[in-house]
Amino acid sequence: MTNIAPESTTQTFQTLLQPTEPIQRLLETASLYLHIPFCHTRCHYCDFNTYAGILPLREPYVRALLTEIELAGKAVQLANGLPRRSRTIFFGGGTPSMLNVSQISRMLNACFNAFAVDKDAEITLEANPGTLSQEQLEGLRAAGINRLSMGAQSFDADLLKTLGRIHSPEEITQAVQYARAAGFTSINLDFMFGLPDQTMQQWRDTLERALDLHPDHFSLYSLIIEEGTPFHTWTAEGRITPGDEDLCADMYEYADERLQKAGYVNYEISNWSLPGHHSRHNLTYWQNLPYIGMGAGAYSSFGNSRFSNERDPLAYIKQLKTGHIPEVDREVIEPEQAMAETAFLALRTAIGLHLPTFEQRFAQPFTQFVGNRLRIVEEAGLLEQEDGWLRLSQRGRLLGNEVFLRLLPD
Ligand code: SF4
Repeated sequence: MTNIAPESTTQTFQTLLQPTEPIQRLLETASLYLHIPFCHTRCHYCDFNTYAGILPLREPYVRALLTEIELAGKAVQLANGLPRRSRTIFFGGGTPSMLNVSQISRMLNACFNAFAVDKDAEITLEANPGTLSQEQLEGLRAAGINRLSMGAQSFDADLLKTLGRIHSPEEITQAVQYARAAGFTSINLDFMFGLPDQTMQQWRDTLERALDLHPDHFSLYSLIIEEGTPFHTWTAEGRITPGDEDLCADMYEYADERLQKAGYVNYEISNWSLPGHHSRHNLTYWQNLPYIGMGAGAYSSFGNSRFSNERDPLAYIKQLKTGHIPEVDREVIEPEQAMAETAFLALRTAIGLHLPTFEQRFAQPFTQFVGNRLRIVEEAGLLEQEDGWLRLSQRGRLLGNEVFLRLLPD
């Protein structure tokens, strides 16, 4: 796969993605994720914590989330009692666009009350193109949502049916037009490749139709057959045949070249954006910065711990009624693990790991942390350094995880 951005564009992204604030200040922030576990129907490939047929739970669930936002804000407030700063908010799911504008607005206000949300915070809502109206999008924009992320998946009507999606290709186009008319200036479209019987020509057509809409950001994922999904059963029964590894690699490579030609930069393995439209929220994850996940099954990473919530929406609602956050797992992250994870996550991005920031964060140079292994991996041509950034070389990208295994301590 070739996904090295042209040098000048990489430079632009280095400037954009370089921490604009001292790392110690960023470590005192918390990005917020709110999980909305409702869907019209279950897509045939989906293993997310989301449910069809529980729409009457929407309002009780929103109330539970309002309680959790307040409790979480108090739990992570600063030592001086002031709310913790938040730079991004992300409504994910599930299908957050199945809530009404007033419900989203109430949750946003709860976040503004419980956290010190930056004035220019990135506030994203995931939406299903089959659930959006012009009026709703205008309401969401007025409520403060400033980035829309739509699960488009394909412009091929038959493939959308195979996937079990509820929307049509025309609804994707219409949803983007509605969103632009409502004032959204940052729109992401998700697409999938390696779908059952999907041809290269279908994939090319999907990308061309998507590019005609000028989205600001693309997320492209190859289909993964997850256990417990209809696709898993159908694959085992021979009823469907997902794209093989070679075809998926060709589809990825084609998309990368086509999107870069159109001005998009591949800043993370699965993500391309126009300059200035990279997902600041997702960068929180890739830079291993703190985030608080709220809602059923949501994960958090904060301080030296990672923890998650009760997955079942009804149990989640019941427990919040008792005034407690329904935490089910807590794992303490030792400093060595935090260092390894920070490097691993950053090296997935096209710009790589910023070595001075690593040293400021962990009071130890990366070279000291990995020792002799860095020289060995660099000499093998798998990593390269430039202006304080360490990144996978083109060859290193092809080997992926093997580089991490060779580089990082056990
Ligand atoms: S809309 Fe998204 S979250 Fe809902 S079932 Fe489909 S893939 Fe899963």
